[in-house]
Amino acid sequence: MIDYDNISIDKRLGHELWYTENWTDNVRFTFRVKKTLFSARTKYQQMDIVDTFEFGKVLLLDGLVMVTEKDEWIYHEMICHPAVNYHPHPEKVLIIGGGDGGTVREFAKYDFIKKIDLVEIDAQVIEQCQKFFPQIASAYADPRVNIFTEDGITFIHHKHCEYDIVVIDSTDPFGPAEGLFTTQFYEHLNAILEDNGIFVAQAESMYFFPDVVTKMYQKIQAIFGNAFLYNSFIPTYPSGFWHFITAAKNGHPIADLAKNKKDPAGSI
Ligand code: SAM
Repeated sequence: MIDYDNISIDKRLGHELWYTENWTDNVRFTFRVKKTLFSARTKYQQMDIVDTFEFGKVLLLDGLVMVTEKDEWIYHEMICHPAVNYHPHPEKVLIIGGGDGGTVREFAKYDFIKKIDLVEIDAQVIEQCQKFFPQIASAYADPRVNIFTEDGITFIHHKHCEYDIVVIDSTDPFGPAEGLFTTQFYEHLNAILEDNGIFVAQAESMYFFPDVVTKMYQKIQAIFGNAFLYNSFIPTYPSGFWHFITAAKNGHPIADLAKNKKDPAGSI
């Protein structure tokens, strides 16, 4: 579990400004900050946006790096494009979390995607990311995008078999996101997927948090039966070695679904 109480932002070393995130009790990640652009306690979390020498602008929630201008593209491409390329004909997408808009932007690149529902609990995240990260929050005006500022945990209760792809692009498993990592939530997700539906979630890091990733995998595997992990290198996330979990409602995303794909590359 990440203890975000002892994260120091704006730690002054002489005249310099540094941000430090405790990746574990014994490992810290520190980078130099030009200036703080935004800082507020929202209804749900502490939200800071800082401009940095190395990573451009950085969004922090409860003191943890969420997106940086320099490496956000890696995460957002990896959470979107594999699922679009496994699914035979994806049209309806649900994204839970993702208030920075990067995952929305990636799905909006496909003209065969007809509907993108974004469920972000914290309206402030959407508002400030549109202001400070316009190149990430660039697809919010797309007519296919519907924004719901509510809790993803309850949002899915009144849906049934509605989506081809569901993405959990949430913060870490504590605070408002804790309920997005439970068996009950994954069971509800299964119910709102269409028959060929695919589920993808950001799944933390096996390097520092193997128990978190293993527990997530076991819960999802017990429900879907075909879960699998894939990973990528995201320099500003703990260890850089970051995981995603994906599963299909029926069959195996790659073995069964992808082979039915007419145009494997999709049309971007
Ligand atoms: N890429 C980041 C990562 O991997 O940690 C996630 C980015 S995105 C900013 C995470 C979003 O999840 C936050 O804006 C947060 O407000 C939202 N969130 C957390 N719990 C939620 C919930 N229960 N329902 C909807 N959104 C939630």
